[in-house]
Amino acid sequence: MEVPFLSFAPQHAPLRAALTDAFTRVVDSYWYVLGEEVRQFEQEYAAFNQVAHTVGVANGLDALVLALRALAIGPGDEVIVPSNTYIATWLAVTQVGAVPVPVEPDPATSNLDPARIAAALTSRTRAIVPVHLYGQACRMPEIMALATEHGLFVVEDNAQAQGAAFAGQRTGSFGHINATSFYPGKNLGALGDAGAVTTNDDNLAQQVRVLRNYGSQQKYYNEVIGYNSRLDELQAAVLRVKLPELPTWTRQRQQIAAWYGQHLAGIAGLRLPAVAEGATNVYHLYVVHTPHRAALQQHLTAQGIGTLIHYPVPPHRQQAYQQLQLPAGSFPIAEELAATCLSLPIWPGMTEAHVATVAAAIRSR
Ligand SMILES: *Cc1c(COP(=O)(O)O)cnc(C)c1O
Repeated sequence: MEVPFLSFAPQHAPLRAALTDAFTRVVDSYWYVLGEEVRQFEQEYAAFNQVAHTVGVANGLDALVLALRALAIGPGDEVIVPSNTYIATWLAVTQVGAVPVPVEPDPATSNLDPARIAAALTSRTRAIVPVHLYGQACRMPEIMALATEHGLFVVEDNAQAQGAAFAGQRTGSFGHINATSFYPGKNLGALGDAGAVTTNDDNLAQQVRVLRNYGSQQKYYNEVIGYNSRLDELQAAVLRVKLPELPTWTRQRQQIAAWYGQHLAGIAGLRLPAVAEGATNVYHLYVVHTPHRAALQQHLTAQGIGTLIHYPVPPHRQQAYQQLQLPAGSFPIAEELAATCLSLPIWPGMTEAHVATVAAAIRSR
């Protein structure tokens, strides 16, 4: 049996009629940008995420950029980011003109280590951007306490963790203003690019509404230098069909992770994901670590099992960031995690037989 890294079929096939109905509704509405679908989805996602406001935008990167812009973060400012994250977290900081300042993760969870943040703060630090990597909630109460103590903003990057929680509180509801992505492969994915900002702050929500729409509240009157970054009606209609399924899909991901835990137990040199006390993990990715990654990945490919690496090169070692002059060895935990991580297949609809097949292939190496 082959096991693809990701299959959308079990998620989308049962929703086919509902999705095409949603398309038809939008086609027949004759209103394609910032209409009723976006308005309804924003309310439904805000209720799901337990926040006062959701503002739909074009993608997750823009959600981060607009959140930082709403906080007036820009040139001369520094922003704490994880040393191991998808590069979008850093790009948002750079795009508003601020400087990303990396902080190392807890190697057990791969998430930003709250205890390491204080040492990276300077008089220019304005904000912290924790990332709930692979679907596991960061230790947000500690991060919020530190931010309060130092007068900093917090912007959660919740692109990988829709529905996760820490101590019962949803990710994307702790920070002053937070970002998420509905890229197709995310736990809640559109059929194309989409993203959102979530916040409890009326004023920040309103600023993002203005920024996403050319800096305008009243058509053809522009208050600020804005963007064209709107969630479109078609994607909002798709997301409205998929959102009610998310809790079921999350339980399936957690069940698959539990099966992996049983089937992969006790393999020498293979470290399985650990979940911090108080955190939940919605397993956007199931990431193991091994010093023999290249050989294992090759072996699994030969057996028809799809894997990916999230991420092979940490942002500070990317060519795009060579101007920061952060040489190899400057963030050794991120570099070690990047050298040893391997993402195994995980998608709603995977069965225990799929998991057993992956585990048998790993054991046969
Ligand atoms: C996917 C992702 C983003 C960016 O989202 P897009 O919608 O692809 O722009 C940002 N941060 C993290 C951690 C992500 O995984």
